[in-house]
Order: sequence, then C-alpha cells, then structure tokens
Amino acid sequence: MKKILVCGAGGFIAGHLVKRLKREGHWVRGGDQKRPEFSPTAADDFQVLDLREAESCRAALAAPGEGAFDEVYQLAADMGGMGFIHSAECEIMYNNALINAHMTRFSALAGVRRYFFSSSACVYRNMLKDEPALAEEQAYPAMPDNEYGWEKLYAERAAMAHGRRHGMIVRLGRFQNCYGPEGTWRGGREKAPAALCRKIAEARDGESIEVWGDGTAMRAYTYVDDMVEGIVTLMHSSLENGVNIGRQEYVSVDALANLIAEVAGKKIRIHHVSGPVGVAARNFRLDRMESTGWRSRVSLREGIARTYPWIERQVEAGRPAGVAATAS
Ligand code: NAD
Repeated sequence: MKKILVCGAGGFIAGHLVKRLKREGHWVRGGDQKRPEFSPTAADDFQVLDLREAESCRAALAAPGEGAFDEVYQLAADMGGMGFIHSAECEIMYNNALINAHMTRFSALAGVRRYFFSSSACVYRNMLKDEPALAEEQAYPAMPDNEYGWEKLYAERAAMAHGRRHGMIVRLGRFQNCYGPEGTWRGGREKAPAALCRKIAEARDGESIEVWGDGTAMRAYTYVDDMVEGIVTLMHSSLENGVNIGRQEYVSVDALANLIAEVAGKKIRIHHVSGPVGVAARNFRLDRMESTGWRSRVSLREGIARTYPWIERQVEAGRPAGVAATAS
C-alpha cells in the first residue's frame, strides 16, 4: 500500500483518479480548494486548502506516519474551456504558477519519490488541418496559442528541474481534451463536449443551439477512464519529459454536436455565432505513450453515450417543475 497525494481531487479528472487509486488499495489524501461537487470523495483524507500558498502545500505534503508520500499527482489548476482560458489569462498565469512553483519545490524537499504533473496539449503551437501529428519535442521552439499553455510549459520545466536536483522521478502527461461524467458542465468553465451536451439537453427537438466559430475547428477527445488509466501507466513508466495522452479520433466541432444530438435522439440545428475557438486543429503523436502498452479504448461515440445521460440528468435536476424536457 502506497501513500499518495492527489492535488485537484475536488475536480473532474483527479476525482476519478482518486477512485482508481483507491480500487488498488492505496492510502490516498485529496487536496483541493473545494470538495467534489457531484459525488463524495473516495479519498481516505481530504484537505480543503488553497495550494497557491506555500503553507498549504507543506500541510498537504505532511504524510501520515513515517517518511514522505510515495507519489504525488498534481492536477490542481485554475482552468476551463476556451471561453475561460481567453478571458482569465492573468488569473491563470498567477494562480497556476504559484500552485506549481510551490508543489514542485515542497514535494522535492519533502522527499517525494514520484511526481506527476498534468500538462496539456495547449503547450503546442496553432496547427493547420491535415498537418502531420506533432511529436513531443516539437513543443519547442515554443509558441503556445494561449497563456494557459505557456504556464504549463513553465510548470513542466519547474518539475523537471526539481526532479534533476533532488532525485525525484517526474512524469509529465500532456492531456488532450478530456470529457466524461462529473466534469464541469455549466458556469463558464465547461469544455466543448460538456457545453454541447448541456445545450442539446436543454434544447427541444428541432430547435437550434449556438456553436462558437464556424464549427470547422478539428479536435480529438479522450474519455476520462482512458485518461486516468494513462496517468497511472505513465507515472509508473520510464518515460521522461512531456508525454502526450490522448486518442487519435478527430472530429470537427459541428460533427461533435451532431454526434451528441444523435445520442440524445434529437434533431438539432446548429447556429454559428462568434466566440473564442482556439486553434484551428490539434494533432499530436501518441507513439511514446503507446509504447507502454496503454491505448485509448473508449470511442467518442461510446464516451458520449456514457456522458450525455449524466449531463441530461443534471439539466433535468435544475429544470423548474412543469417545464418539459423536449417537445416535438
Ligand atoms: P477541474 O477544474 O475539474 O479540476 C481542477 C481542480 O483544481 C479544481 O477542483 C479546482 O478547485 C482545483 N484548484 C484550482 N485552484 C486551486 C487552488 N488554488 N488550490 C487548490 N485547488 C485548486 O479540471 P480537470 O479537467 O479535472 O483538470 C485537471 C488537470 O488536467 C488540470 O491541471 C488541467 O489543466 C489539466 N488538463 C485538463 C484537460 C481537460 O480536458 N479537462 C486537458 C488538458 C489538461
């Protein structure tokens, strides 16, 4: 049984990660500024703390019993979909740099054995459709499309530097867009799959939904169970430096909306409006990650079939009594 700290455990991916680590029988502490919103935490111990503060990071890292935590998974971040990333760039740069500067430093000083950092596909430059997939080293020369991506690169480097100097094993997962049940689905921080599921759940059959941009931006999406399996596999692999975790199943934003409508059993019209879209395309190689034997198993259709009903239930739960879900 290992002692494991999961930061960001009040959030989406880390909440699922805690459940996965508990199934293996480890002792897990979760740390976050908030408790999980949608289901109770599976962690043995949950600390509500602001990880921008050095003292909070030290407190989170004070392991029970003898010695330091065997593993730290650092997934806490001020983050959201494109709307949030573009409007809150100062908060993202400030908050996330503080969290990561403190977490890498105090983990290394505490003698943590293995440290995982959740980086992002946003470290890569803007891409054109049909460009060959980028390998990890092509994050340099660096030209991320947004400040969130620049901070991720800084945090990768901070973790690697502390790993080198303090003998801490560091693993850096660069996540593709991730979706699934218990992810943020409203409030301005939701990402495209959750936002589209919500809009379609709120729409009546035959109505139209708004989609930002012209709907042609190409993306790939990874179901949360695949992402969590990838995180744990990468943590225990010998792969150094940034490693892409994702699925090579590319769709346009319009195609994603149409797929969700099909799963929902509704006819939906798409109305394009101006809004923050992000890069035109994003296409990265997975051969390093797949060299571990890990593969994304859940197709986009299957993942949406698992996610849409969960979001529909959230929408239904918030709907005033007497308002029908659909009308034909
Ligand atoms: P999330 O917002 O659901 O989880 C992040 C958690 O961090 C939240 O619960 C939040 O409360 C917590 N947090 C933020 N500031 C904090 C602070 N000062 N102190 C303590 N806790 C704080 O996001 P997620 O989708 O689960 O993302 C997890 C990690 O994966 C993040 O680092 C994110 O940047 C990265 N990532 C996510 C995606 C994706 O598609 N979801 C893609 C690429 C990278």
